Amino acid sequence: MMKNARKIAVLTSGGDAPGMNAAIRAVVRKGIYHDFHVFGVYHGYDGLLNGEIKEMALGSVADIIHRGGTVIRTARCEEMYSAEGQEKAARQLKNHGIEYLIVIGGDGSYRGAAAIAKHGIKVIGIPGTIDNDITGTDLTIGFDTAVNTVVEAVSKLRDTASSHERAFIVEVMGRNCGDIALKAGLAIGAESILVPEIAFDLAEISEKLVRGYRRGKNHSIIICAEGAGNVWEIAEKLKQHSGFETRVTILGHVQRGGAPSAADAVLGAVMGGKAVDAVLEGKSDIMISHYLNQIVDRPLDLAFGPRTPFDSRLYELANQLAI
Ligand code: ATP
Repeated sequence: MMKNARKIAVLTSGGDAPGMNAAIRAVVRKGIYHDFHVFGVYHGYDGLLNGEIKEMALGSVADIIHRGGTVIRTARCEEMYSAEGQEKAARQLKNHGIEYLIVIGGDGSYRGAAAIAKHGIKVIGIPGTIDNDITGTDLTIGFDTAVNTVVEAVSKLRDTASSHERAFIVEVMGRNCGDIALKAGLAIGAESILVPEIAFDLAEISEKLVRGYRRGKNHSIIICAEGAGNVWEIAEKLKQHSGFETRVTILGHVQRGGAPSAADAVLGAVMGGKAVDAVLEGKSDIMISHYLNQIVDRPLDLAFGPRTPFDSRLYELANQLAI
C-alpha cells in the first residue's frame, strides 16, 4: 500500500510532566496507523531550531507509556521569543516537508506554536504540565500524578509529624496556581491549604492549630502552594502565633517525576489520539482540551486569555472539612 506522503511532527517543551510519553506514543502510533510520516523534534524549540528532527517508527515509542519525563526531551529556548527564531523554526519544518506541529507543553509553548503558525505551519497544542495552569482545559497531563506524589509523600511525613507532635508545612509546586495544593490538601485532609488565589490569615490558621491540639490532635499538616508566599516566613509566623514547633518540607521536583498515574497515562493517550483526529480533520491553531468532562479541541488562543477561575467551592469545602 502507498504510504501517505503527509508529514507531522511532535515536540515537548517547557517543564516535563508524567504522561507526556503516553501522548507522544499516541501521536506516533495513531499517526502511523493513518499512514502519516511522524517526526519527533528533540529538545523542544531549541532542537527544532538546530534541526534535531527524526522520523519515528512504531518501535521508537515502545516501552515508554509508563515512564515519566519525555523521551524526546524538553528545553526552554530564548531564541523562540524573537521573530527571527520563530521564522527559522517554521523554515526548519518546511525544509522537512512537515505540515503539522503538535506541541505538548504549557501556555508558553503554545505561544511558540502560535508564532510558528503565522508562518504557514499548522499547529496543535496538547496541555502537558503538572501545574494545571492552562486556561481552556480543566486538566493537564501530569497534574494527577503530581497530586498523587504529594499524597504519598505526606503519608510518610505524617508518621514523623505525629511521633514528634509537630506541625508540618509542606510546600508543593504549581507556580501561581493553587490546584496541586487544593487537590492534594483535600485528598490528605490537610488542616489548612494555602493558595495564591485566596487570601489567608495566619493568626486564624494558628488558632485552628491550637484548637486541634486541644481536641487531641497530635500533628497537623498544612499544604502551602509555592505561589502562596515564602514558606519559611509562613512557618515562622505560625510558630510565633501558635507556640508549636513547625517543620518545613519542600517537595520540589520529585513532583515532576515518576511513572504517570493511570489517569495521566490515559489522558496522554486520549489527547494524543485526539490531536491526530484534528490533523485528519484539517484543523489548526487549536488545543486539545479536557472540557466539561470530554476531550475536545478548542481554539489555541483561549490559553492566552484570562485564567480559569480557581475552584473556590472546593476550597471552601476543604476548609469546612478541616474545621
Ligand atoms: P511550563 O508550564 O511547564 O513552564 P511552558 O510551556 O509554559 O511550560 P515556558 O518556559 O513559558 O514553559 O515556554 C517554553 C518555551 O516556549 C520557551 O522556552 C520558548 O522557547 C517558548 N515560548 C514561550 N513563550 C513564548 C512566546 N511568547 N513566543 C514564542 N515562544 C515562546
